[in-house]
Amino acid sequence: MEYLASDELEGRATGSEGIEKAAVFIENYFKKNNIKPYFETYRDTFKLGDIIGYNVVGMIEGNDPKLKDEFIILGGHYDHIGEGKEVNGDKIANGANDDASGTIAAMEFGKHFANSKTNKRSILITLYAAEEMGLKGSAHLAKRLKDNGLNAYTMINFEMIGVPRSEDKTMAYMSGYNRSNFAPTLNKYAGEEVVGFFPKAKEFNLFFRSDNFPFYKEFNMPAHAISTFDFTNFEYYHHVDDEADKMDYNHMASFINKMIPGLEGMMNAPTKEVTLSDE
Ligand SMILES: [Zn+2]
Repeated sequence: MEYLASDELEGRATGSEGIEKAAVFIENYFKKNNIKPYFETYRDTFKLGDIIGYNVVGMIEGNDPKLKDEFIILGGHYDHIGEGKEVNGDKIANGANDDASGTIAAMEFGKHFANSKTNKRSILITLYAAEEMGLKGSAHLAKRLKDNGLNAYTMINFEMIGVPRSEDKTMAYMSGYNRSNFAPTLNKYAGEEVVGFFPKAKEFNLFFRSDNFPFYKEFNMPAHAISTFDFTNFEYYHHVDDEADKMDYNHMASFINKMIPGLEGMMNAPTKEVTLSDE
C-alpha cells in the first residue's frame, strides 16, 4: 500500500510513468508468489488513442482435473486519476482507498491460493488500468477473454476496501445484490454475513459503474463489486488526501481473511451454484 499509493507513483494515471511502476510491482509480486501469467506475459495491452494501457493478469490453476477448466475472476483497478485539486501544495491523488486497497485484496487472494493450492476451479487475478477513464481496461480484458472462449463462472471486483463501515452495518456490501445469489452463497461459506445489501448501491447504480460491469456484459454471468466504502466513512474520494496513512490495515486484513473461506467454498462447489436472477 505504501508503495502503490506513494507520491513516487504520481497517482497512477493510465499511460504515466507512475502506473508503469505499479504494473512492474504487481508483476514482481506475482512472480515471487508463484502466480503464473495467463497470457504469454502478465500484461494485457490495449490502446486508447495515443495512450497505451496494461492490465496485469495472473493465474492460479485449479487442482481438480475437471473443475479447473472453469474460472473465477478476481480483480480491482490499479490505476487512479493522477492529479487532483491542490491542497496545501499537494496535488498528487494517491488513490490509496481507490483502488490500491482493492488491488491489494486481489493480490493477497492470489498469494493465498497460489500457496495453499486449495482451489478446485482456476482463478484469474486481474488488475485493470483505465478504470478512471471509463472502465476501458476491464472492457478490453473481458472482451479478449470472451473471444478466447474462457469458461468463466463468476467475477468479483474489489473496490475501496481500505476503511471500515460503522459497526451496525455489514462489513462489506455488494453492488447488484439482487442480480444473483452471489452474496448469500458467499456468506454461507464464510459462516457469517460478510457481504450485505446497501440501498445506496442500487440508488447510485454502482453495478454499472465499476469493472465488474464489462464482465457481466460480455459473459452474462454473475459479476459484482464488493466494497466497504459507503459514502459516509471516508471523505477523501478522488481527493489528494486519499493516502496510505488513512487506511485501516486491521480492517483490510480482517476483510481479506473473512473473504477467503467464502471464496474457497465457491471455488470448490461441485456445481456452478451462483446464477443470475431477475432483479
Ligand atoms: Zn475505484
